Amino acid sequence: MDYRVLLYYNYTPVEDPEGFAKEHLAFCKELGLKGRILVANEGINGTVSGTVEATNAYMEHMHADERFKDTEFKIDEASEHAFKKMHVRPRNELVALHLDEDEDIDPNELTGKYLEPTEFKEALQDEDTIVLDARNDYEYDLGHFRGAVRPDIRTFRELPQWIRDNKEKFMDKKVVTYCTGGIRCEKFSGWLLREGVKDVGQLHGGIATYGKDPNTQGEMWDGKMYVFDERISVDINDVDKQVVGKDWFDGTPCERYVNCANPECNRQILTSEENQAKHVGGCSYECAASQDNLYVKRHGISDEEWRARLENWEEAVKV
Ligand SMILES: [Zn+2]
Repeated sequence: MDYRVLLYYNYTPVEDPEGFAKEHLAFCKELGLKGRILVANEGINGTVSGTVEATNAYMEHMHADERFKDTEFKIDEASEHAFKKMHVRPRNELVALHLDEDEDIDPNELTGKYLEPTEFKEALQDEDTIVLDARNDYEYDLGHFRGAVRPDIRTFRELPQWIRDNKEKFMDKKVVTYCTGGIRCEKFSGWLLREGVKDVGQLHGGIATYGKDPNTQGEMWDGKMYVFDERISVDINDVDKQVVGKDWFDGTPCERYVNCANPECNRQILTSEENQAKHVGGCSYECAASQDNLYVKRHGISDEEWRARLENWEEAVKV
């Protein structure tokens, strides 16, 4: 384990995100880091991998910068890089909540109460508290806190509308939110407060911190945590891990994520190698039959074989 993966964010004013991104990219490359960093006027959000030495140098550099001096880094041990390239990209917003400018939230001014892992675990066991997953559906499906509400949405940016449509369920309740590293909840919990929800909390440092906490050891987390790098998922619960992921096609326990082979779709589905092959990499018949099917190309499947598998599609689903 000579490598590390750092996950971090900081809502802090950054002037000229574009200029900053260029310089920061050069600095990261010099250190030999790989990863993805987003910079906006409202702050910075990144995941980078590198050697222990390089990641230490990076954290030191960030902490020496007045703007980023209080940045909290979540550190995962790793045996190799978790990315192929290094990107630093200027953005309008750090998380895709797509709030209009006049309804944007500054977490430094308005955000939910921070719950440390032990407090969050108590909230999970409290019947009067609603625990809300503030991530995308495919993240929830691979793993989530026991009893957490799964909003009926595909992506995080649909969450505000979903809350408005289901307001009566939340308004008078204690609501606690969580996400991977905490950044999405900073804004989202503030937004909930402004919508009029009285009592709003957020898991400080996200699931990543909860999993490393010596007191909770990830207990009451089921499945794996989806991550946005080449690892795809990591373990969280060291106490009583259970698999909750289900194969897209036959519903059997599964924790293997793949992208639909149709590049136009690219949907992430959980499925076994065997079922992926049977369905020629597609999430639907239409995707499997797509002329751009990447699975067919990657595996050198002949037209004849492709047709045969498509013909068996209905049957394969039933198995
Ligand atoms: Zn598809």
